[in-house]
Amino acid sequence: MPGATDQTLRPFLWRAERLYPETEIVSRGHDGLTRYTYSEYSSRVKQLASALRATGVTAGDRVATLCWNHHRHFELYFAVTSMGAQLHTINPLLPTDHISHIIDDAGDRVVFVDPSLVETVTEALTATETDTITQFVVMDDSASASALDPIEDYESYLDAHESAFEWPALEETAPAGMCYTSGTTGKPKGVEYTHQMLWSHTMATQSPQGIPIDDDDVVLPVVPMFHVNAWGMPFSATAGGAKQVFPGPAPEPAELGSLIESEGVTIAAGVPTVWLGLKEYMTHTAVDLSTLERVVIGGSAAPESMIDWFDSHGVEVLHAWGMTEMAPIGTVSHAKAGLEDASAAQRRAKRAKQGLAVPGLEFRVIDDNGDEVPWDGEQFGELWVRGPWVTTEYFANESATAETFEDGWLKTGDVVTVDEDGYLEIVDRIKDVIKSGGEWISSVELENAIMGHDGVEEATVVGVGDDKWQERPIAFVVADDSASRDELTAELEASLTEQFPKWWVPDAFEFIDAVPKTATGKFAKRVLREQYDSTDQFDTSPSAKAPPEE
Ligand code: AMP
Repeated sequence: MPGATDQTLRPFLWRAERLYPETEIVSRGHDGLTRYTYSEYSSRVKQLASALRATGVTAGDRVATLCWNHHRHFELYFAVTSMGAQLHTINPLLPTDHISHIIDDAGDRVVFVDPSLVETVTEALTATETDTITQFVVMDDSASASALDPIEDYESYLDAHESAFEWPALEETAPAGMCYTSGTTGKPKGVEYTHQMLWSHTMATQSPQGIPIDDDDVVLPVVPMFHVNAWGMPFSATAGGAKQVFPGPAPEPAELGSLIESEGVTIAAGVPTVWLGLKEYMTHTAVDLSTLERVVIGGSAAPESMIDWFDSHGVEVLHAWGMTEMAPIGTVSHAKAGLEDASAAQRRAKRAKQGLAVPGLEFRVIDDNGDEVPWDGEQFGELWVRGPWVTTEYFANESATAETFEDGWLKTGDVVTVDEDGYLEIVDRIKDVIKSGGEWISSVELENAIMGHDGVEEATVVGVGDDKWQERPIAFVVADDSASRDELTAELEASLTEQFPKWWVPDAFEFIDAVPKTATGKFAKRVLREQYDSTDQFDTSPSAKAPPEE
């Protein structure tokens, strides 16, 4: 019989409401901080569920959000899922035609949108014929005139309803969430999360080898709530009864610093770019990080220099790897028992890797011949994963499903090594691997080394076409003003020559103002590769360096 004992999200809400009624939820908005308790949260969640039901939302309907990180978005996290509908978070930073495709493909019924994103939604909808949407709700206390119709403001939408709601029985196989992968090529692909997937992800990340959150923690998810449920943190923080702090739209380093100080944040999560911003800000303005115990860094590789910088402030970095297809956490880099006797340098090298599979997951690493590679930290192959929170299909997309999944395994497209202790290290995306003269170069290792150099703020390395060697690496560097570019180039060449085979050293170091980023904050290498190939803005003179003769 479904329902009573199924693995659904609702017990997490029940627990926070009953065990931690006075614990706070804090949210930064355009007019300052909103602050209330889990008890008030829970009654607003029920009000919202009543409102959605009055709009006609029933089990299986999709409710879309285009919202930043704030308390109203968090209310949707539990209201939509607990009433049996599906929370479909949309990344507003995607190109408009991708947003059009996503709304159309998902057939959303209601759309919740932040005031600053009303125009984005309006534009996206003019490009589709979609006719499934029956209500727009703007995340504010008043709705200004808009082409979206019918539209209501969030507070009026809630006010008209009671905070009593009889939650229906739910099955764990019912879809609870949805997020589209922001593919750098092709149209985004939909991933659905069932209750059971989100429940098991929450429980696994709550384990000591995941990203455990306790009732004395203060959690700051800087990672967007539109991107794979902010790595599941709003669910795991509720399960753990922690205080939650939502940083609002596009928080600047100064605002993050001030939230960390004023709210006593103990654990924060975000992509490396966010922490680079804070690090840079702290070169001229002091921020008290003394309450901060852990920072979760993922989405892209955490540079070792960043791990060291946090260490020097007494903050432990948990380097994590994951994907939209796996809700998203796959590995976390904890120090394994037995490493106590290793040198500090060895321990740090382990922590800088993407880490150990969290309990509940299995993985294998498959080479070009379809064989599993040995766990020697050297040989690499494609990472395949499977587990209770890993999807086995894309939404309504048979061809992409056939390409990406095999016998229940998700083929991640990430190229990795595994060392003898089981630590995974991402060496590249399959499509970013640089093949030079038939030999392989890791763009990620080069990037890490360049970013660890004084005077470099950010750097990326891409492979560009080369007549002789098929591909050669080119480094794109964002430098600070401390060194001349010629000097920095000479220093980088010397340092990389020491650390890597000579033919790994990039043919050119191009200085740019900022590394272009994708909608999820990853380096947009394709943009740089195309710019480099299509313009003579960069010097493409052939290099003296070359890969080994075959
Ligand atoms: P997304 O589905 O948008 O979350 O992107 C998932 C991809 O981001 C992975 O397949 C990796 O290529 C990359 N990624 C995520 N976390 C890390 C990490 N810690 N280090 C390097 N790459 C990462």
